[in-house]
Amino acid sequence: MKIKVDQIKDKIVKIDENNPAVYWDIDNVDIKFVDNIVIHCEVQRIYKELLVQCDLTAYIDIVCSRCLNNARKVMEFGFKKSYNVDTINEVLDLYDDLREEILLNYPMKLLCKSDCKGLCSNCGIDLNLEKCGCSEILKNICLEGGTRLDI
Ligand SMILES: [Zn+2]
Ligand SMILES: [Zn+2]
Repeated sequence: MKIKVDQIKDKIVKIDENNPAVYWDIDNVDIKFVDNIVIHCEVQRIYKELLVQCDLTAYIDIVCSRCLNNARKVMEFGFKKSYNVDTINEVLDLYDDLREEILLNYPMKLLCKSDCKGLCSNCGIDLNLEKCGCSEILKNICLEGGTRLDI
């Protein structure tokens, strides 16, 4: 996203940009960006400061770290920044700052949903879809051993 400084006055200017995810070069092994990354920015000049406020929406395909299923998630985040016009040579290029913002907002946990039950560590069943008797069996084994484990 490029902003021509002399076009920004004290009135808010809205700028939209829609680029395919590849444009940002941000995929990593665990997160694959799909579709476009949608960016809405509002820019305003106050004296020597260019105030930029942007909202971003991105769609990602992940592999859930608990149940190993594929899931598509939406990332929504925003940032605010100000730039001194004296440091800008006519055009403010936001590419690096926007890209950094996307990288900073990578989800910490890759889960298909926050309460994903995951796979049974014993039989491997997807506990979101089915129940298995493993925890009962394990409980009984523990009882026989004399100590009870709450599973
Ligand atoms: Zn999951
Ligand atoms: Zn099981």
